[in-house]
Amino acid sequence: MADKAQRVRGTQDIFGEEAARFESVVAAFDRVRRLYGFRTVHVPMFEFTEIFARSIGETTDVVSKEMYTFEDRGGESITLRPEFTAGISRAYLSNGWQQHAPLKLAAWGAAFRYERPQKGRYRQFHQLDAEIVGAAEPASDVEIIAFAHQLLSELGLGDKVVLQLNTVGDAETRTAWREALITYFSKVKGDLSAESQERLEKNPLRILDSKDERDKAFVADAPKIDAYLTAEAGGFFDKVQAGLTASGVPFVRTETLVRGLDYYRHTAFEFVTTYLGAQGTVLGGGRYDGLIEALGGAPTPAVGWAAGIERLSMLIEAPAAETVNVAVIPMGEAAEAAAMNVLGQLRASGIAAEQAWRGNMKKRMAKADAAGARFAVILGDDELAAGEATVKDLKSGEQKRVALSDLTNALK
Ligand code: ATP
Ligand code: MG
Repeated sequence: MADKAQRVRGTQDIFGEEAARFESVVAAFDRVRRLYGFRTVHVPMFEFTEIFARSIGETTDVVSKEMYTFEDRGGESITLRPEFTAGISRAYLSNGWQQHAPLKLAAWGAAFRYERPQKGRYRQFHQLDAEIVGAAEPASDVEIIAFAHQLLSELGLGDKVVLQLNTVGDAETRTAWREALITYFSKVKGDLSAESQERLEKNPLRILDSKDERDKAFVADAPKIDAYLTAEAGGFFDKVQAGLTASGVPFVRTETLVRGLDYYRHTAFEFVTTYLGAQGTVLGGGRYDGLIEALGGAPTPAVGWAAGIERLSMLIEAPAAETVNVAVIPMGEAAEAAAMNVLGQLRASGIAAEQAWRGNMKKRMAKADAAGARFAVILGDDELAAGEATVKDLKSGEQKRVALSDLTNALK
């Protein structure tokens, strides 16, 4: 640690306008999830490492390079959650939530990944998360994407993001397409980036996702999944697309959008923006029908998405500053006690009120103004003797005397 108390690289102290942005993203999420009947769930911030390794997959960047893993005092290998899906799936199994299926769940909070910090990329960041567990119907894919679309629209981002949509097919489709990709990329293996050469062995679909210029030229001409779609997988994708259209959710078919792991099925989607440089994905998700099985459960279809709260916060308009309605200004010692009584009554009846603790009348009035107060309640010796307060409308400048017993009503 340095001399001065220092923040760990990639962490954030969120305050002021940034905090207001963050809160308004979370508030919108909470509002919209109710409209879609998603129930909140709180899962632990850490799990046994195995939960993430098995469900996210050893070959992903998240598991192979980015996890915060440590041994706890009991000698267990523990990992701070890099995302929510694994923990929610584990909870579904641990608690026997099968009885409630299909279950629509919403969660938000901190997630941890050891990455190179930059704008929109942190080591402790925050996600919104939505999952539908136990539904195989394409209508559930449509619903969870419509939820995301409405959330982004309510955040004022309708024109700043584009929904990219793809299918990765069913198991049969995937096996055939995977073979075709391996054959295609093997022929040009030597010209691919080192990372993609490695992917060719472990996780060939991920080559399609490569940001490396050497790979991009080959990716453009790689075999397309549509040639390998089974009738069932094609039918599923048709229903999702028709459902989105019926729901008024515009999308762009994006054939290079893939999910590398075997248990991903059918729908894959991302909402992307051009406003955040390389950190362009604000929300991503898809169907993961094989994941719960990978954790030792019965085959359970599921679909979900996650969004970065910081990335959304950076995109939205700054929310209006928080203000209090009333500033209480006591003048003199007797008035201090009366002010506490008045503050208690105002707050108990739902009126946001504050008092400045120090300074002369002028200073305290300035403070009331800075807090954005609409009214000042002035308590001096005169007022107290009469059992009254002076209420000043800070907008119009008008002021009048009001009986203390009438104060709450007068200010409502
Ligand atoms: P990226 O390609 O940007 O690394 P990802 O594919 O790793 O994203 P997901 O695992 O799908 O991201 O996580 C869902 C969302 O969480 C992302 O779309 C993004 O908005 C956000 N996110 C992911 N990693 C970070 C991070 N390190 N800092 C801030 N937000 C993040
Ligand atoms: Mg990442």
